[in-house]
Order: sequence, then C-alpha cells, then structure tokens
Amino acid sequence: MMTMKDWLKQIIPPVGNRATFDDVNPATLEVIATLPKHTAKDAEAAVVAAERCFHTWSETTAQQRAELLNKWGDKLVEHKEKLAEIMVLEQGKPLAEARAEVDYSLSFIRWFAAEGVRAEGRVIPSPKPELRLMTRKMPLGVVAVITPWNFPAAMITRKMAPALAAGCTVVAKPAEDTPLTALALVHLAKEAGIPADALHILTGDAKEIGPVLTGHPHIRGLSFTGSTPTGKRLLVECAATVKKCGMELGGNAPFIICEDADIDKAVSGLLAARFRNAGQACNAPNRILVHEKHIKRAMEILKEKVPGVRAGNGMDAASNIGPLINKPARDKYLAMLDDAKAKGASIVASGGSPEGTGHFAPAVLLSHVSTEMRVWKEEIFAPILGLVPFATDEQAIDLANATEAGLAAYLYTPSIPRAWKFAEHLETGMLGINASLISQACAPFGGVKCSGLGREGSHEGLDEFMETQYLAWGV
Ligand code: ADP
Repeated sequence: MMTMKDWLKQIIPPVGNRATFDDVNPATLEVIATLPKHTAKDAEAAVVAAERCFHTWSETTAQQRAELLNKWGDKLVEHKEKLAEIMVLEQGKPLAEARAEVDYSLSFIRWFAAEGVRAEGRVIPSPKPELRLMTRKMPLGVVAVITPWNFPAAMITRKMAPALAAGCTVVAKPAEDTPLTALALVHLAKEAGIPADALHILTGDAKEIGPVLTGHPHIRGLSFTGSTPTGKRLLVECAATVKKCGMELGGNAPFIICEDADIDKAVSGLLAARFRNAGQACNAPNRILVHEKHIKRAMEILKEKVPGVRAGNGMDAASNIGPLINKPARDKYLAMLDDAKAKGASIVASGGSPEGTGHFAPAVLLSHVSTEMRVWKEEIFAPILGLVPFATDEQAIDLANATEAGLAAYLYTPSIPRAWKFAEHLETGMLGINASLISQACAPFGGVKCSGLGREGSHEGLDEFMETQYLAWGV
C-alpha cells in the first residue's frame, strides 16, 4: 500500500528552477507540500501542448472518450480514501464531507461519460425545397478552467469531465490553497489512459497564469468558479478574444421559512446547509427570512443546536466543521461579527472551537440581525447564522431579490400555489423547495444576475463546452 507521502511525490510536478509556494493545512498550519509557481511561459507551453492534443482527442469517438472517463471514475473509487484525506489536509473539511465530495466528483465523471455520447445534432424541416438543414455539435477546442478552494475536487471534475466528453482539452488553474486535490485527480486521469496533454494543471500565482488563460487566442472557452469580482474581471479579460465563458460566481441565497412551514423540518434543513463546509459554499443559505410567527421557536431550536456544531481538525470524527481556509477568511469572519455587533446584533449561541493554531472559527448564532449588516448584504462564507423576520410573502420576495446575486434560494412551505408564486418571482437560478441540499450532477447548477452565466452539470453542462454548427445542404 502506497503511503500518502509517496503518492504526493508522484503527483507534485517538478519544481525546476521556478519559485515555489507552500500548500498549508488550515487546521495545523503545517506545510503539506511545496509546489512550483508556474510562470506565464509554462502556461503558454501548456496551451500549445493542449492544442496539439486537441486535434487527436477531438477525433476519438464519443464512446472512446466515455470509456476513458469511466476508467477515470474507477480510479476515483479505488483512491477515494486518499483523495478525501488530501482534501481534509489542504482544505480542512471534515473527512465525512470530503468522502462525500469524492462521490459527488465521481458523479460528474459518470454523468458526462454518459452524456457525451448523446451530443446529438438535429435535422430542421427546411422552408426551401432546394435546401436540407441540419446541425452538429462540435467541441470548443482548448478550454481554460479556473477553480476555487471550497470544493477542490468537485469543481475540477464538474468542468473537466464535460470538457473531455465534448472532445475539448483543458488547461486548469486550481486555487492556490488547494492545488493537490486537482493534481491528484489529473494524475488518476492519466493513469486511466486519458492522454497526458489533454489535461494540464498549472499551480501558483493567478496574476502570472491568469492573463495567459484569459488572453491566449487559442483558448476558446473559460469555465470559472469563484468570486463575483474576480469573475467580472475575467469576463472583461476574455472579451478581447471573445471566449465562451461559463461563470459560476458568488451567491447570497435567501432561505425563506413561510408562515405555513413545518418549522422543525425547515430549521434542520437550514442547519445542514448553513454549516456544511463551515459555511464556505456559494449556494449556502445566507439571508435567513423567517415568518414572524416562527421567529421565537426557530431561535429556540437554533440556540439548542448551534452549541453542538463543533469546529475542529477535519481528521477528528468529532468535528462537525473544519477551519476556515486561510487567515483572510478568518479575518473577514471576525470583521463581519464586529460589524453585526456594532449595528445591534449579539451572539446568543456559539459552537466550540479549538485553541491555538489553525484558522478555526466557531459557529455562531446572532440575534437582531438587520438588513444593514454585512452578514446580510455580503456572501458570508463562514459559519455565522442569524434570522430576519418578515410579515408577508411579498415582503419576503422583495427582500430576497434585493441583491445583485441570484444563484440559489430555499423555500419552506407545504403549499403548492405558494411555492409556484415564489418560484415565479424569486430571481434565482436554483430553488430548493422543502429541500436544502440540492446540487446533483444531473441537474443544472448556475445563477442569474451577477451570480453567473451558463449552467454546470446536466446536459446544459456539456453544451458549455460545445458549439452548434449549422449545415445547409443544397440538393
Ligand atoms: P476567493 O476569493 O474565494 O479565493 P477568487 O475568485 O479570488 O475567490 O478565486 C477563485 C479562483 O480564481 C482561484 O483559482 C484564484 O486563483 C483564481 N483567480 C483569482 N484572481 C484571478 C485572476 N486575476 N486571473 C485568473 N484567476 C484568478
């Protein structure tokens, strides 16, 4: 059995004479690995190699690509434990969540292996007797993939699997905080027989690598998941070469508990989704709107439950949440709490958190949250929870929509007419109705407004990496 140390040696690329950076465990602040800071020149070389490979990869059949993707999937199954452990080490999430993320990552590989063979064109009834009209789907070409640190495995496979299935080749830059998971996944892809030049990982500085990925004329698409300000910037950079952009950006999800909701069910849905990954998810419930009739009871349940949300090292089975990803994330958490307290909120319950090293942040429940606070206006990305009361459905809809974000929303009500009314009026790409954990490989994930462009997963997720070519045949 190969040790983790030996495995890491295999997956970490050679440093050469490049500068390096450290991958640090956010729970212990220990250095896990030292990686090369790839340069703009490295990025250009990767694009050239990926482009060369595109010509052969795109000419394989969809079935051949599906077979290789499934072999890649088998490798994830085989190495699930090691992948989960790497994720805990560099990202901090509890091991159980990391294992679930490996399964979730695998689901994208399986889904797109199956979906790639259905990239069908169509025959269009022609208005002219002398013409026959049809379409075919073709891969974009070399695509760039830029991923965040919060779901370091799933965000890679959610993009790479459809890209490969479509016939594209990929140059990817994972987040600086979590490069090992991406390297491990691509190492397994190569072991599975996917050509070495079909997938490239660049590690290091976004400022150095980013401009090559957004500016290179041979890169035809960019699939990005990250913050809204970075996404807006990348869109501008991609404009010069008119790349097809898939943007999965920040959210500020409302979680609406209606007058007729089952309050126990709603609060348990809220707790599961709010504290998952220590709150570091773009679709996490952020603005909790509770009908005034339920506020007292909801606070009572939460006051009882939140102290049980223990922060700790993800390898410790007793930890419900891991640390935050880095110091800036913890500083932001503290600043948001200060802002809330200065504007009238108070901490009424708090989960445990270890002393000493690590970017730990205890789960907290705030009372008297108002719409003036940062915890309301901004994406929190930390384990902070507070409720805001509302009186009417219309008021809840107005409050929910009063943001530039429109990624996910959650609604608890047993009423079908009420659910329809909210679905039709909420400005959101995704709506969980009496459900708070909604992401699935087979369903379209994505936002409206400033939360992004395009969809990932589902058959829409394959289209992101394809163009439709229209053929008009004279007969
Ligand atoms: P966060 O603030 O959550 O780290 P970011 O949007 O900054 O979110 O990061 C998401 C991903 O985008 C990371 O891989 C990061 O390195 C990358 N990134 C950040 N800035 C740029 C940039 N200017 N060009 C290219 N990639 C970038």
